[in-house]
Amino acid sequence: MQEDHFETIAIRLQAERSQYKEHSVPLYLTSSYKFDDAEEMRALFANEKEGNVYSRYANPNTDELIEKMAVLEGAESGWATASGMAAIFTTFGAFLQSGDHVLSSRSVFGSTHQLLNNVFSKWGITYTYADLDKPEQWESGIQPNTKVIFVETPSNPGIDIIDLEWLGNFSKKHNALLVIDNCFATPYLQQPIKYGADISIHSATKFIDGQGRTLGGIILGSAKLIKEIEGFARHSGPAMSPFNAWLLSKSLETLAVRMDRHCENALKVAEFLESHPSIKRVMYPFLPSHPQYEIAKKQMKQGGGIVTLVIEGGVTAASKFMDGLKMFSISANLGDTRSIATHPATSTHSKLTEEERLQVGIEQGTIRLSIGLEHINDILTDIKQALD
Ligand SMILES: *Cc1c(COP(=O)(O)O)cnc(C)c1O
Repeated sequence: MQEDHFETIAIRLQAERSQYKEHSVPLYLTSSYKFDDAEEMRALFANEKEGNVYSRYANPNTDELIEKMAVLEGAESGWATASGMAAIFTTFGAFLQSGDHVLSSRSVFGSTHQLLNNVFSKWGITYTYADLDKPEQWESGIQPNTKVIFVETPSNPGIDIIDLEWLGNFSKKHNALLVIDNCFATPYLQQPIKYGADISIHSATKFIDGQGRTLGGIILGSAKLIKEIEGFARHSGPAMSPFNAWLLSKSLETLAVRMDRHCENALKVAEFLESHPSIKRVMYPFLPSHPQYEIAKKQMKQGGGIVTLVIEGGVTAASKFMDGLKMFSISANLGDTRSIATHPATSTHSKLTEEERLQVGIEQGTIRLSIGLEHINDILTDIKQALD
């Protein structure tokens, strides 16, 4: 299986069939499992035997999703959580203790920012932010107690990129765990563990589901690190439901074809916007004008489905543009079949101060477009008429 191509693994790696020989994987809606006898129960609880005990720990549907994701990303093992934020919270909770320090990229998902600023700081964990494009800030940000380096690349919504190979070496040199939020890229476009990341995290809510139906999170890493995640997650309870795991595992079967089309459409949108006079700036990894274009080409298969633009005229122009869109949805989600427009300053990143927003490149005129799978001509027509 390991030697097969991404598309084949995503479709053919399936849990074993039951006595009914179903072709598509069934849904295992059960909270707990029966033991053959008292001895089996004892052995399972003592970790002397492999098997299912309780769905807060494991379930055949989450097992299948995790195994598929791990193989696709080149990881040994993984864990599934109810949402992307539960995956990030679980990772911090498992590896950090009072007195530890986190060095994080400045442009992280709004809720990750809130976790570091307002939740873990209460528990005696300190943090420093560094800009993805300024290596000197990473060097000066490292402290003797830096336990975790946390990075989102490409970042949301600024689409900044960091060289993962450089970062992998940097983290090893400083003996810190490197955790990458790989949500924007998915395992199809980028595999951080190959560059030395210890943990790769996904909000499966986005492109992995890809159809705007469910929340989900995945943590991938070595068997040893995932054991530590398990130790925290079994008892704190961020488990993914079997139904969501079943949906997400089915979604993975089409991830490659969906991502190809998301990327193809997004590149065309980025190129169009770059040539439009009302647009101040366009951020897309595979536009040659992107400051980290060469790095993006090196570590990503394609540029992804998100295009961020800054419109001339600030929040007034941004609102007018969004209200002028006829087909695009105004929504906070991304990675859906439907194209979506978001205004980060008043939604996903509204909890940041204006100064913090400007530091991560979010202006009042910044709009994040998640480019969907509609026909490219219809997507471009909608953007054009809204700009007019
Ligand atoms: C959405 C998102 C998250 C959080 O995921 P949820 O599933 O919404 O909890 C984390 N990181 C990034 C980059 C995201 O886009």
